[in-house]
Amino acid sequence: MDSSSKLSGPDDFDKYISAELPDEKKYPLLHKLVCKYMMHGPCGVLNRNCGCMQDGACCFRYPKQFSETTEQEKDAYPIYRRRNDGHKVFVRKKWLDNRWIVPYNPTLLMRYNCHINVEVSSSIKGCKYLYKYVFSDLATNCTSISYMRERAILSTRNEYVDSLNAVMIGKFLENEKVYYSHDSVDDDSTNNYHLNFLNSITPNGLPPHELKIKKNCHVILLRNLDPHHGLCNGT
Ligand SMILES: [Zn+2]
Repeated sequence: MDSSSKLSGPDDFDKYISAELPDEKKYPLLHKLVCKYMMHGPCGVLNRNCGCMQDGACCFRYPKQFSETTEQEKDAYPIYRRRNDGHKVFVRKKWLDNRWIVPYNPTLLMRYNCHINVEVSSSIKGCKYLYKYVFSDLATNCTSISYMRERAILSTRNEYVDSLNAVMIGKFLENEKVYYSHDSVDDDSTNNYHLNFLNSITPNGLPPHELKIKKNCHVILLRNLDPHHGLCNGT
């Protein structure tokens, strides 16, 4: 990532990530969405039967500790600001405070209106967690249309998409198939378009020169291949 795009420390983290209840009067809709999507549990002493409980404790380590400020931990997630400001909300039959809030980005939460956990990733562990969190138990679930349809990893740049795709394809169990793009251009009698050039480009909306896919991985059609059987552009 470009150094100017990186979050440099706790002050930056606070600009993009919150783990507190927003002011209900100033931000009523955001407050409602945090209560609806971003409250963990309740688990632990409030509910020992919660699905996150393992050996008597929450596997996600909720409730978190109160903290006056956000602090950077080495090779781990930061400790997010969760002030003990007396704010509580009644969620799933219990009163919950800032210790139960899953870190979120207000803009993403408002835009997509669903549970989106946003964390600062300062180590390689973060990337591994991303795959594990979004596509848990992929090998078992990859044939389930609803499982695959409900998940996505968004990325800001095409190059990140390519590297994420490469890792994800590696996680499917079946044999890999490789498809190549064209090596020549029709009517190019003077050889203006060299093989290396043609193989290096990825025109907008087309697959890369070397397309690797496996059985059960998702692909989107970009042409009407067989409309009679539902194979249309965009499916
Ligand atoms: Zn829990």
